[in-house]
Amino acid sequence: MAVSHRLFRLHSPAKNTLSSFLIRSFSSSSSSSSSSSHGPSLDPEIDLEEAAAQLEKSSSPSPSPSPSKGRNFHWVFLGCPGVGKGTYASRLSSLLGVPHIATGDLVRDELSSSGLLSSQLKELVNHGKLVPDEFIISLLSKRLEAAKEKGESGYILDGFPRTVTQAEILEGVTNIDLVINLKLREEALLAKCLGRRICSECGANYNVACIDIEGEDGSPRMYMPPLLPPPSCESKLISRDDDTEEVVKERLRIYNKMTQPVEEFYRKRGKLLEFELPGGIPQSWPRLLRALHLEDLYDKQSATA
Ligand SMILES: [Zn+2]
Repeated sequence: MAVSHRLFRLHSPAKNTLSSFLIRSFSSSSSSSSSSSHGPSLDPEIDLEEAAAQLEKSSSPSPSPSPSKGRNFHWVFLGCPGVGKGTYASRLSSLLGVPHIATGDLVRDELSSSGLLSSQLKELVNHGKLVPDEFIISLLSKRLEAAKEKGESGYILDGFPRTVTQAEILEGVTNIDLVINLKLREEALLAKCLGRRICSECGANYNVACIDIEGEDGSPRMYMPPLLPPPSCESKLISRDDDTEEVVKERLRIYNKMTQPVEEFYRKRGKLLEFELPGGIPQSWPRLLRALHLEDLYDKQSATA
């Protein structure tokens, strides 16, 4: 097997604590959700029961479900950092016409707003603290409430739940239909993470890794082409300070340890769909559609597009 990289030699300038914390703590995603600066205020001592009650209030069945859909799309995406979860969640959300709700985006939106939650959040972030469950749940319930008001008929959650406690709260108050667990061979994942680059000027994301892994034991060859920058960004690329092999491996180890109980939680309830990504988007997308029985919908939409 061969994993090759095309590397640009780059040095990352110092980042401020806030942005590096955020980049490290929340997987990025391309689509976003609403933000508003007036929300419920959050007491730092808010307890889970109260948060659950808030969530229950905001996620009761929509009074005007879309009549065109016979299926529910209350979906959750799981997947380790770098697997491309945000990309697939975002594609599916456009296909299904439901919002892609990424908790990382909710936190970023809140940070850029001027609400009370925002100042509390900045305080936490400035002290290098992790954002607590209660905070995320509060933001999420605010978002689900907005969804209800807009008459949205489903959602794709990305980045939540991360713990069994969060999964339990969610399970008690809303009906998650399906949890899609995206997986990628570790060597491909590692190469992908190490190949990540960000344009220091416009913030666009690229990947300079060219992954080409020979198939073993009858499995097909895995090829994932690089996503190279246009000339205008090429000289401004930086990599994250923490995208080193050691750190990425540690991140994966922590992720797996934290997520396995969540996977088990949904597996026991018959809601977990394991999906092994066979390669890049061109290979993976059609198979994912097939696994979700969405090929017909996709064909229909492509035909009318
Ligand atoms: Zn650029």
